[in-house]
Amino acid sequence: MSNRAQRRASVADFKRRVSGRHLLTYLIDGDDEASLDRHTVLRDAAAFWQANRASRKPCCIACKLSLASDEAVGAFLFATSPGSPGIASVSALCSTCSHLPLDQIEHHAARILSNLLPGGRFEDA
Ligand SMILES: [Zn+2]
Repeated sequence: MSNRAQRRASVADFKRRVSGRHLLTYLIDGDDEASLDRHTVLRDAAAFWQANRASRKPCCIACKLSLASDEAVGAFLFATSPGSPGIASVSALCSTCSHLPLDQIEHHAARILSNLLPGGRFEDA
């Protein structure tokens, strides 16, 4: 399966499992281990993201910089659904874009998250 097909499959899986509920979003600095440790599901999702970045070839949600190897992650954007507390989607910002004004980050986040939950509402946790 191609990387693109893999990515689509995992997005589709998440869509099905959130089943129309709203999403809770978390923006956490890439080196903020303390915040990750407070949220097991997010820590696990970040670890999964790190372990699979070579094959999934993620890119910065703002500038599209490749984050496929060991580029520094400026921030992670997580989305969880209260109806499915055990799963989280992960997006990432590069170290430059993580310093964008919050309204610009939210603009990119809303675009990404609307792929997961078209027309859905977003809440900052
Ligand atoms: Zn970027």
